[in-house]
Amino acid sequence: MTLNLEQINDFYDAQFREWTELKPRYDALMQAERRNVGVGDMTVALQFNPARIKSTGAAVDTSSLARRPCFLCKANRPREQRSLGILDSWHWLINPYPIFPVHFTIASKAHEPQEEIPLDMVAAAEAAPELAFFYNGARAGASAPDHLHFQATLKEELPLIAIAEKYHQGGRSSAMDSTDFPVDLPLCFRSITVVPDAEGMQLLSLLPTMYGFDAVTGAPDPGMVNVIVWIDDSRTLRAIVIPRKRHRPACYTSAADGEGCMVSPGAVDMAGVLILPRKSDFGTLDAERIASIYAECGLTKEEFKVWKPLDGIMGR
Ligand SMILES: [Zn+2]
Repeated sequence: MTLNLEQINDFYDAQFREWTELKPRYDALMQAERRNVGVGDMTVALQFNPARIKSTGAAVDTSSLARRPCFLCKANRPREQRSLGILDSWHWLINPYPIFPVHFTIASKAHEPQEEIPLDMVAAAEAAPELAFFYNGARAGASAPDHLHFQATLKEELPLIAIAEKYHQGGRSSAMDSTDFPVDLPLCFRSITVVPDAEGMQLLSLLPTMYGFDAVTGAPDPGMVNVIVWIDDSRTLRAIVIPRKRHRPACYTSAADGEGCMVSPGAVDMAGVLILPRKSDFGTLDAERIASIYAECGLTKEEFKVWKPLDGIMGR
């Protein structure tokens, strides 16, 4: 089954009718304040979204997870929440705490941990070419690392997508580092383009082997990664892999005292849309502090250049 914009709208309308709590949340999102901040050559959008405090502030340590009922398991989900039957092993759901006017959560039918990038994201992108699919590694923004899932929104919502399409030509299978883009970006990532050939299949198969490291121990960590997958207008399949080294920046810790900044970056934030549940952060965050959040959570240019686990793909 495929999913086009009309079908997306129909699904939303049907869920708005049946699930009455849902529409006010999407209406509130329409009122959410936004402003843009230029960071180097990247325009980062700040979104003030108080309803996301639940996700941004989520405790994701093992004992907290064990104590709460998993909100992605079917038994614990609202009765009114329907699933689109697009992928066999996945429930395709409307996200009840949206960041975007179109925001899906695609959750595994099984309660299994967020261990590696699910290659079913490729099948999802093929089924819904209007959407971009994004994945948060278990220690890189996932608020339910114990239940495998990824999310989707419209492609134009994520600034990094246009940057990758502009500087990394599609139409063939290849990989390119953002450090080779002729622009000044506050974070580092690998861009991958795939057409159906042997090299493309190899690039895809290596995707789950690409991730960052733990900033404290220096050890490679499959949970330290954000990935975005989509199909561009030339029908080239694309992926952006953002290796990570921290779950949250240092300023997050002091946010509890009313200082710092309540930001818990996932793929959306790393892709250029910072979700801020506190008004004070929304009002005060500037280019320098945003650059620092990216440098703390992502890899710096120096770290990125020497980080070997990315090399399987390109043999730099
Ligand atoms: Zn679950």
